[in-house]
Amino acid sequence: MGRLTARDGQGGPGRTRKVSQSERRCPEEGPRSCRSPPAPVCPMDSVGVAAAAPDAGPGPAWQSKCPWGTPNTTSISCSLADVMSEQLAKELQLEEENAAFPEVVAVAEGPFITGENIDTSSDLMLAQMLQMEFDREYDAQLRREEKKINGDSKVSISFENYRKVHPYDSDSSEDEVDWQDTRHDPYRADKPTTTPRRGFIGKGKDITTKHDEVVCGRKNTARMENFAPEFQVGDGIGMDLKLSNQVFNALKQHAYSEERRSARLHEKKEHSTAEKAVDPKTRLLLYKMVNAGMLETITGCISTGKESVVFHAYGGNATEDKVIPPECAIKVFKTTLNEFKNRDKYIKDDYRFKDRFSKLNPRKIIRMWAEKEMHNLTRMQNAGIPCPQVVILKKHVLVMSFIGKDQIPAPKLKDVTLSSEDMKKAYYQTLNMMQQLYRECNLVHADLSEYNMLWHDGKVWLIDVSQSVEPTHPHGLEFLFRDCRNVAQFFQKGGVAEALNERELFNAVSGLNISADNEVDFQAEIEALEKMNEDHVQNHGKKLSTFSSDGDPPIYDE
Ligand code: ADP
Ligand code: MN
Repeated sequence: MGRLTARDGQGGPGRTRKVSQSERRCPEEGPRSCRSPPAPVCPMDSVGVAAAAPDAGPGPAWQSKCPWGTPNTTSISCSLADVMSEQLAKELQLEEENAAFPEVVAVAEGPFITGENIDTSSDLMLAQMLQMEFDREYDAQLRREEKKINGDSKVSISFENYRKVHPYDSDSSEDEVDWQDTRHDPYRADKPTTTPRRGFIGKGKDITTKHDEVVCGRKNTARMENFAPEFQVGDGIGMDLKLSNQVFNALKQHAYSEERRSARLHEKKEHSTAEKAVDPKTRLLLYKMVNAGMLETITGCISTGKESVVFHAYGGNATEDKVIPPECAIKVFKTTLNEFKNRDKYIKDDYRFKDRFSKLNPRKIIRMWAEKEMHNLTRMQNAGIPCPQVVILKKHVLVMSFIGKDQIPAPKLKDVTLSSEDMKKAYYQTLNMMQQLYRECNLVHADLSEYNMLWHDGKVWLIDVSQSVEPTHPHGLEFLFRDCRNVAQFFQKGGVAEALNERELFNAVSGLNISADNEVDFQAEIEALEKMNEDHVQNHGKKLSTFSSDGDPPIYDE
């Protein structure tokens, strides 16, 4: 059903459709995009991805004149999971075919492909991107055509239904501009008075019943207002449009299916955040993980930070060497480099990465953040500290177990209201974890606060350890002190009477015995220790062990 945007009193949709057929010119006559090679369309259709075409009825005559035939208007957009499983099915089929007809395949591959491991798994993705680009271009052209044809005429036509990308699915900004261009605000019109319930109005000879064509037609038009707000009914009321029952019912049907479709698309949009928040290369990486069966579905975004985006995903099949948790968190380290500049000090001075740092390009440095998080999580896991379990690291994408349940992430300590009992429990557990982290993992969290502690299963879980450093890091002790301040303040404010202050906590965690009783002196001593460490490293080229159980300053460790 063509969308009706006629704005004067010329008639119903049938009339508009007529106008649209006689007046409009096929976009294929002009637009470059329409004449571009159809190549990307076909592979898409075969997997049903192209599908952005609206649920329109049979298109007008010009559509069938398109050189590559009528677009597939019946297929609907499908989810990532569907695409993936179809892709998987295809691959399996290919595999079978390969096994059945080995020589045919060999011939098909021909003498040109010489590499043994040519990776074509991203071809679909690339084709999809091409298709998306193509669709957008096509729509833009359609819109230009629309504008040109409508010009100043009072009756305007809409090509909306022939767009590849449905407005709900696309950037709505352009649609908004279109709407503002509308000379008549469709919502400003006076509503005609409605017929009283008794089914007739007037007196004596002048009685009109509800079956009266004019009244009924007007009423039908007014009833269009009840369609979903997204369903654009145009200015039927303002132009005193009379809709026959038949047309009204057809419109209603269309409105309902539009509503359902829009809901579906909306859902898809929510779920495809994963695709929008990351760049194409990352998207490919994620697709591959789903494709490989490692992940079942990527359901949505949990958090968007300055340096990373975290997604939730359902785990896929276990492999021989890996058990995939039922729910996973995917941390994508952003490859926009600016955000990482101020983090240089964490990694540049980390001796574990020192040699590599100078030789790396910025993209690789971002991968190192992911790598660091993985290593640090593994250390913590080994020490038995509650934290996400590493599943896999691919470039700047880290997959780990999900802390939470049924897609709902465990709340951060800052967001959860604990009973005083639980608060106390959480405090002692945190103290314990900080000690374990320092002594057993040889790590300082370096961003520890109620923002990076989750409350799950009646205990505190530590997350976000990409910036964690070893205590011998030139600023390691300062970072530790900052952590201690955050933790002490949080639990003291939380009403834990036993909570140590930051200086006591620092000593309790590090085993150092800094005696200064005020913050300034305390910090000065910390810096002196760090300097001593650094000198040692300079002189001996070896690291120091910062932990010493008898409270002595760090000593050279061999
Ligand atoms: P950053 O703070 O650097 O953006 P985080 O590692 O702290 O990155 O992750 C951001 C948010 O994502 C966390 O606050 C938490 O809510 C959520 N999150 C991260 N990892 C997990 C996980 N493994 N399980 C559940 N939620 C997680
Ligand atoms: Mn965080």
